[in-house]
Amino acid sequence: MKIIRGYKTELALNNAQITACTKHAGVARFAYNWGLRRRQEIYQQTGRSTNAMALHKELVRLKYTKFSWLTEVSKCAPEEALRDLDAAFDHFFERVQLKKAGIYTGKLGFPKYKSKKKGIGSFRLRGSIHIFLDAIQLPRLGRLRLKEQGYLPTAGGRVLYATVSEQAGRWFVAVQMEEETAEPALATGNPIGVDLGVSTLATCSDGRTLPNPKALQKHLTKLRRASRRLSRRKKGGKNRAKARKLLARQHYRISNIRRDALHKATSSLTYAQASETARARRAASVPPPKTKAERRQQQKQAKRLCRQATTENATVRPRVLVLEDLNVAGMKRNHKLARAISDVGMGEFRRQVRYKTVWNGETLLLADRWYPSTKRCSRCGHIKVEMPLSERVYVCEACGLVISRDLNAALNLVALVWC
Ligand SMILES: [Zn+2]
Repeated sequence: MKIIRGYKTELALNNAQITACTKHAGVARFAYNWGLRRRQEIYQQTGRSTNAMALHKELVRLKYTKFSWLTEVSKCAPEEALRDLDAAFDHFFERVQLKKAGIYTGKLGFPKYKSKKKGIGSFRLRGSIHIFLDAIQLPRLGRLRLKEQGYLPTAGGRVLYATVSEQAGRWFVAVQMEEETAEPALATGNPIGVDLGVSTLATCSDGRTLPNPKALQKHLTKLRRASRRLSRRKKGGKNRAKARKLLARQHYRISNIRRDALHKATSSLTYAQASETARARRAASVPPPKTKAERRQQQKQAKRLCRQATTENATVRPRVLVLEDLNVAGMKRNHKLARAISDVGMGEFRRQVRYKTVWNGETLLLADRWYPSTKRCSRCGHIKVEMPLSERVYVCEACGLVISRDLNAALNLVALVWC
């Protein structure tokens, strides 16, 4: 099975490299904004839309006259930015079509200019990209050191492109790899119903609960303090820049906690969990590592191989995973709940489960939005007229079942597999 997998890791850049990367990101942003303006001008003059290829040709001509500083960076940076612009317009036109058809009701979202104030941003590079244990070599930028050695795979795939980005003062590289993996053996384990919630991230029909770290809620006080500090500092001042950095770091930390919890949760649902002994056995079968970086890479590979979907672990992987097709945007319209729901990251949970089930030979079933998973009794099928959010325990009037609200919902979801 051919899969495209992304690996993102932190870079250890020196000052010259930071300058070069900032320049690249600046050019990418410039090209995007320039392209957006040109597209609108061309449309007004000719009544027709243009595309990234035509715009890139125009930009290359200007490179030798008006924008000579474009020669300082890789040609990929503006080219890829113009492709991103094309994608933005494609998505916009798609939404226009869906709105005409009455399927979509949200905002149309015409592509916007990218502002420097929103951060340094990112840029994407193609071409000759080489990965080493402790570094990555990119066109024009040369060899950049990595903070974590042995994380990026040095073999077993084709590099499609690399994206370099900045967040909260740290630089990262994300590599998209096309990998050929063994076809996953079909899972045969018991189906699992998963109810997503706010108090616990997920409740499974087998009784497991996955914790919600409530990253935002726990850091709200700190976050408020940091944003207040920022708004009180003099505009354009050094202290304002410092306060901005502090706030960015806190946002970054919150997103890390959330992402970590989501990945752990979705992996525990879909992957076969390999024991320590199995991992050690796998590690012992390869030649001893010469360097620290090599050892780390071997450990990572052993972990990946142990978790592969094989016939031996088919019974511990659920053959079907049932999720509720939640209307996340609609739920966020409830102001009392909006923050708590955003803090969970339900949309991201579903995205992860979607690809992880495919990689593990499992089926994902989305229950209909109107399926009464919380109102239905999981034992006798009686359906309550009302089940307000405040009621945390389900009490059935028909058969007398008393059960936790979330577990009842998870059991109702898994019941969909049998009917
Ligand atoms: Zn009942």
